[in-house]
Amino acid sequence: MQLDLKQAFQLEGERVPIDAELDFSSLELDGAYPIPEPVKVTGLVENQNMVVVLRYRIRVGYTRACDRCLDMAHEDFDYSFSHILAAEDSGDTSDEIVVIPDFRLDLDELVREDIVLELPTKFLCSSECKGLCQKCGCNLNHTSCDCTLDEPDPRLAALRELLKKGG
Ligand SMILES: [Zn+2]
Ligand SMILES: [Zn+2]
Repeated sequence: MQLDLKQAFQLEGERVPIDAELDFSSLELDGAYPIPEPVKVTGLVENQNMVVVLRYRIRVGYTRACDRCLDMAHEDFDYSFSHILAAEDSGDTSDEIVVIPDFRLDLDELVREDIVLELPTKFLCSSECKGLCQKCGCNLNHTSCDCTLDEPDPRLAALRELLKKGG
């Protein structure tokens, strides 16, 4: 979605509301497509004393395999962002400043960059997720198994091996 913000740059006090639904279903992260549903964005571009500020809120429905048990899990994340929009590149490389040379803002592109930085790198279906049995691989959230997990500590095993050789 392209926003023409020429007027917002020229008129002090000018406000441009944003109410959009963006599609990130083709956004790939780690080989998956975690945002299948449209994403609602509400915000405002405002010329404050000739500084053009963009503020927006967003709710992202995030669907991905749990890192621990590999079940698909869903969580909604609410984020808010603000940026200063600049028509010219002043050489300032702050993340907060977004340069839009022709007064046109590519909202999809900006939102995509913002959310990719915020989305969790570690994701669990629940903080209590029991994960998979390390022996048989069953999902311990749904089932239990008879595996005994009191395996000897591999470091102790190595030590034992050394002692055996020594003796
Ligand atoms: Zn899990
Ligand atoms: Zn097991």
